[in-house]
Amino acid sequence: HTGKNSNHLLAEKLKKMVVEGYESTPVLINENVSVYDAIVTVFSEDVGTLFVTDSNSHLVGVLSRKDLLRASIGQQKLSTLPINIIMTRMPNITTCQKNDLLIDVAKKLINAQIDAIPVIEEAANGIKVVGRITKTNITRVFVELTENDG
Ligand code: ADP
Repeated sequence: HTGKNSNHLLAEKLKKMVVEGYESTPVLINENVSVYDAIVTVFSEDVGTLFVTDSNSHLVGVLSRKDLLRASIGQQKLSTLPINIIMTRMPNITTCQKNDLLIDVAKKLINAQIDAIPVIEEAANGIKVVGRITKTNITRVFVELTENDG
């Protein structure tokens, strides 16, 4: 017996868990798409956050539900307003990578007060989005830790 209590073991297990294996599929949208079409995508893909890419599929921005709501209460025509006008843009995007510790990504979600973080890979001339970690993924880990505590 190690002499460690189960809380200690749980914490040690959690501190070793990395993003890879716990991420969801990212939903990407081209920066030239209209706000109207982005709203339709939020419903059809059933996600809260869209990751915005350029024509090379490189990450250029993030679009949240509230970004879309804000644009919708303005006086603009949503079907002709491109999302790159209203998105949060690079380099102000909080990102993570596959080998990052999940606990560190959870802290980023809290500190930046956001719902989702893109899992990225640095490509030759830009950033590729390969996954998505949301508060739901973290909640799933929280539940899973109590289920197989062997
Ligand atoms: P909502 O705005 O729907 O509550 P969030 O809390 O995730 O959703 O987003 C808050 C703001 O932060 C939005 O303006 C959004 O564009 C921005 N944002 C969301 N995710 C990120 C991220 N990973 N990096 C930087 N900014 C983000």
